[in-house]
Amino acid sequence: MYAQIIIDITSDALDRAYTYRIPDGMQVSAGDRVSIPFGVSNAIKTGYVVGLTEHVDYDPDKVKEIKSVMHDAISVKEQLIHLASWMSVEYGTTMNQCLKTVLPVKRAVRKNSRRIDPLLRYAEEKDEYHELNPEQQAAADSIVEGFKKCVEKACVDNDCSGTASASVPLAGRSSYELSAHTGEASSLRKNPDISVPRYLLHGITGSGKTEVYLHVMEQVIKAGYKVIMLIPEISLTYQTVIRVSTRFKGRVAILNSRMSIGERFEQYMKCEKGEVDILVGPRSAVFAPFEKLGIIIMDEEHEGAYKSETAPRYETRDVAYERAKLCHCPVLYGSATPSVNIYTQALKNEVSLIELHRRAKSGSSLAATEIIDLREELAKGNRSIFSNRLHELIKEKLQRHEQIMLFMNRRGYSSFVSCRSCGQAIKCPHCDVSLTLHRDGIMRCHYCGYEIPVMKKCPTCGSPYLAPFGFGTEKLESLVKQTFPEAAVLRMDADTTKNKGGHEKILEQFRSHKADILIGTQMIVKGHDFPDVTLVGLIAADLSLSAPDFHASEKTFQLITQAAGRAGRDKDSGQVIIQTYQPDHYSIALSAAQNYKLFYEKEMRFRKLMGYPPIEHLMTIQLLSKDEDMLGIISDSAAQTFKQECDAAKAEFIGPLNASVYKVNDIYRKIVYIKHPEHDIIIRLRDRFTALVRNVDKRGFVMLNYDVQ
Ligand code: ADP
Ligand code: ZN
Ligand code: ZN
Repeated sequence: MYAQIIIDITSDALDRAYTYRIPDGMQVSAGDRVSIPFGVSNAIKTGYVVGLTEHVDYDPDKVKEIKSVMHDAISVKEQLIHLASWMSVEYGTTMNQCLKTVLPVKRAVRKNSRRIDPLLRYAEEKDEYHELNPEQQAAADSIVEGFKKCVEKACVDNDCSGTASASVPLAGRSSYELSAHTGEASSLRKNPDISVPRYLLHGITGSGKTEVYLHVMEQVIKAGYKVIMLIPEISLTYQTVIRVSTRFKGRVAILNSRMSIGERFEQYMKCEKGEVDILVGPRSAVFAPFEKLGIIIMDEEHEGAYKSETAPRYETRDVAYERAKLCHCPVLYGSATPSVNIYTQALKNEVSLIELHRRAKSGSSLAATEIIDLREELAKGNRSIFSNRLHELIKEKLQRHEQIMLFMNRRGYSSFVSCRSCGQAIKCPHCDVSLTLHRDGIMRCHYCGYEIPVMKKCPTCGSPYLAPFGFGTEKLESLVKQTFPEAAVLRMDADTTKNKGGHEKILEQFRSHKADILIGTQMIVKGHDFPDVTLVGLIAADLSLSAPDFHASEKTFQLITQAAGRAGRDKDSGQVIIQTYQPDHYSIALSAAQNYKLFYEKEMRFRKLMGYPPIEHLMTIQLLSKDEDMLGIISDSAAQTFKQECDAAKAEFIGPLNASVYKVNDIYRKIVYIKHPEHDIIIRLRDRFTALVRNVDKRGFVMLNYDVQ
């Protein structure tokens, strides 16, 4: 027997499999980590087994032997390796990088580490179980039915005799083969050609989606299967996590982005050993090594946190589907504001759309929303950041001892400091962005973390007339304290939640009514359920509209809708005030009206006009270098040839352009865009562009990052 092995070096050149003989008596299976002699010097290296084969197509005497197997990594199923192989092609990263993303890494847990997740301290004694209402029941029923069909189908395929095993033969294996050349031919390799059902549960906040998940999970577990439940970020959705761990006490493993590698490994091991039925966690939970996976649930499907920021820059939504296809189980996406992408798939019947129309709890209804035009406030002579209406409502709620949330999507005190004499804003020396002034008198770069005490003189012209402009959550906090001295105020943003458990502490304090007003960035608008909140104020709702990203309207719509969903979760007196300079912008007007469908239509009109995803596929390639000149020369040179190839392929090519923030952390960034309606063509063109860059850039000045949408 021979094993195909990938060497543990992250490098494009080594991104291929080598064949080694498995010595007699050695147990090796796909996914194992092994020691092997490598190269002319036979230096000992670490590799991953990615496949087994009976034959080699050259002299078998020349094949080297595996030295030993390292059993310190979870022996993963071929499934995960196949998933890595798909990711390698889709996201243009090496098989090694993908394997490292997909396979849990063994590390010991440090002695003094807190083994119990801080969240579990808040686990509730009593489970708030609800019988489903008819609409919820119908939703749960059709999802469970989909699950049962998958299981039956898997059994037939696998010829399994009653012992319901989910170790399905890898469907579509022939077309998915792990060849020794994971590089080129793979680009055109197709995904397994099977379909598993996907559901989109679309319901306003409070419509009882989580309760539906819990009922579905119960059925799946009862049938002997395991559940992956994905959440965008644990500290933002900790109430959901608590509900799951309260309902399924002792049967839940939890991943958390702040865990050490060792702590994560422990949680993964619980899954592999069958000690738990559920893994709840952010995007990496999609790789849970469950032997019998019954369903993948993805809560808050639209959340940006589901996209990996490092290579492979995977979209969890798509990886979840690929994983589900490999183990033959359904996927359930849930959201109050589904991404334009998934909703389009639902309208094409690629995903079954299930809608919940009203709030589940009796007596609770949607909050009343008012849009305040800040231009009119200014015309009336109100120069404060509180509109008259918001001011009046805050007063009223404080008197009634009700709670208030104020949302402002920018942290810090002043967004920038600039010189009144020469007009220059003070910038980070390492990045192309202004420094943000914080309350402690320190100016910080929100891109690289650089900080410096606020200056007395302009670094450009020496003028002493420096003035802060714009404002963030810190300034909002001090203005709130000034204007409403009677109120107890909490602030939650990246600055106040740096420490482990920081989020939970603030949220818990607010929940137990130790403060009247919670101020925060987008962290406070997600999934939290505060029964006493009757007023939500969005101080500057259009901040997110100006982001240089075609998702800006979609993100704004989601943010406002989510924020508005925080008010009146219990009483019917919830009120939402949206302060904006662009009251007529459709993403603001329609989120205020909670009209998702109309928003979707308007947004799709814009995407069609521009040929943006999901109408066409968009590949963004970032070229990064410390050497600005070389970056310019290499990207221009590659682009010149590439333009013609794009023309020939009828693909649109834009670039190279300077990134909207050209320099970050002393690294210069250029961007090219490729647009085409067909996914495979986009992938092929990406590989072509890469080859062209590598051809000019023999010495490796430039690093490439890909992002496909
Ligand atoms: P979502 O996930 O859509 O925001 P939840 O599942 O959190 O909604 O439900 C919102 C609130 O309604 C929660 O307090 C929950 O306990 C309650 N709830 C859910 N389903 C029911 C039901 N069938 N009957 C009564 N209350 C319910
Ligand atoms: Zn100056
Ligand atoms: Zn910086």
